[in-house]
Amino acid sequence: MHKNFKNIDKTVYGRGSFDQLDSILAEKRTENDRFFLFIVDQFFKDKALEKRIPLRQEDVLLFIDVDPCEPTTEQIDTLRDRILREKGLPSGIVGIGGGSIMDIAKASSLMFTNEGSSTKYQGLNLIKKPGIYHLGVPTISGTGAECSMTAVLTGPEKKLGLKCDWTVFNQVILDPDLIASVPSYWWFYTGMDTYIHCIESENGKLNNAFSHAYAEQSLKLCREVFILEGCGQNAANDEKLMIASLMGGLSLTYSEVGVCHALSYGLSKILGTRHCYANCLAFNHLEDYYPEGVNEFRQMLLKHQITLPQNISKDWTEEQLTEMAHVAYNLPHMWMHAVGTDWKEKITIDLIKNLYKRL
Ligand code: NAD
Ligand code: ZN
Repeated sequence: MHKNFKNIDKTVYGRGSFDQLDSILAEKRTENDRFFLFIVDQFFKDKALEKRIPLRQEDVLLFIDVDPCEPTTEQIDTLRDRILREKGLPSGIVGIGGGSIMDIAKASSLMFTNEGSSTKYQGLNLIKKPGIYHLGVPTISGTGAECSMTAVLTGPEKKLGLKCDWTVFNQVILDPDLIASVPSYWWFYTGMDTYIHCIESENGKLNNAFSHAYAEQSLKLCREVFILEGCGQNAANDEKLMIASLMGGLSLTYSEVGVCHALSYGLSKILGTRHCYANCLAFNHLEDYYPEGVNEFRQMLLKHQITLPQNISKDWTEEQLTEMAHVAYNLPHMWMHAVGTDWKEKITIDLIKNLYKRL
């Protein structure tokens, strides 16, 4: 069966486009209980951007600290219950922040209309009803969360997304001005998420002309941003990185991620390691699977003087290694793409544990 995906309904791109937010929301303001919920990364509290948020008296503005944890099912359930109890059903949600805030906005949109705990809906097409209008304003580029059909949540049982057509944003505002303040290490790790998305999308069974076209362009932009002459964190490259992230996300949507993301999920679930950093830790040791990509990745590390810690696995217990390996093993779509339909004959828990031991 070929993948049949919904894209973002509307996208605006360009410097200063954030200021179109008010007019974009205007026509939605009469829906439901006539207020908007703004979910904004705590980083922007008391910053210039806060004053540009088109807040009306009836609206709710929540600053959320996304450090050190990635979004959880409990966090989404609590947020939803509180807003419903205190204010009712929002006309829509605006998420302003990095991948974590994108996921909180997408997941909350769905959970406002679907009953019970979000843990019930972690997986593909388990959501029963469309969510409320949701708009994303990414302030870090790389995860592709601005365009993906998943809202990744960590729950008591698993780290898995609420994944369906309704997860995708109704509107995205891509304003490269907003990513200028990202600390250089996050700029690198999150940007590398895009690079790894493309390498994994390209190197697997599900790669096709559609996903390839996006990955090819995204990789070209990543190289301009991270390795070729003129690379580095600057205004011109921010414009490119924002589009690279979008296209990397679209590429993997029509193909799949692979070994690195499977290992990364294990690191995040068991050790709480952040997604993009976990990817960098794992990818650095996957030359058997992605030789050219890993080689180029190491050159980018050198170029930007990023030193990844070595021998970190020596501090992990056998039990942790086994747990991580099970998390990674239970992502069959990634292994199938990376290794083939006969992946179970090639990939074992012990093999995955040995991959982790390289870290
Ligand atoms: P993030 O949202 O976790 O934020 C990282 C840090 O950057 C935080 O400290 C935040 O406060 C800060 N920050 C955000 N914007 C900033 C700015 N403009 N200037 C300065 N600081 C800023 O970072 P991320 O790497 O974009 O997202 C990671 C999350 O994305 C993980 O939770 C992961 O699970 C999720 N993810 C989702 C998808 C998806 O398709 N839904 C894909 C990959 C990753
Ligand atoms: Zn990723």
